[in-house]
Amino acid sequence: MAEETNTAVATANGGAEAARSETSRAEGPRGARGPRPGGPGGREGGRKYFRRKKVCKFCVEKIESINYKDVRLLAQFVAESGKIVPRRLTGVCTPHQRRLSTAIKQARNIALLPFAGRA
Ligand SMILES: [Zn+2]
Repeated sequence: MAEETNTAVATANGGAEAARSETSRAEGPRGARGPRPGGPGGREGGRKYFRRKKVCKFCVEKIESINYKDVRLLAQFVAESGKIVPRRLTGVCTPHQRRLSTAIKQARNIALLPFAGRA
């Protein structure tokens, strides 16, 4: 818009400027990237250990409500450190894990299970 009024100045001054900038742009590093190393379809990173499908113990044994007094049962899902074993390790389904964790916490409060184990 404003360039149209002083075209003469623009060509005299900015002409060389524009040309220089254009050459420098051409010289600059462009997107000359080669093909990505290790694209899809590489070597198959097979699993070392084949784990069999884990099933929820409570679903299998049809245990609907998990009793906090059942220490034998709860202790299976408490690690030696006193922690509740995560679902991904035990295979317990989400609704049962929720009840299980509640039961474990109740059992802890009446000292049936440890808050923290040895070590
Ligand atoms: Zn379940």
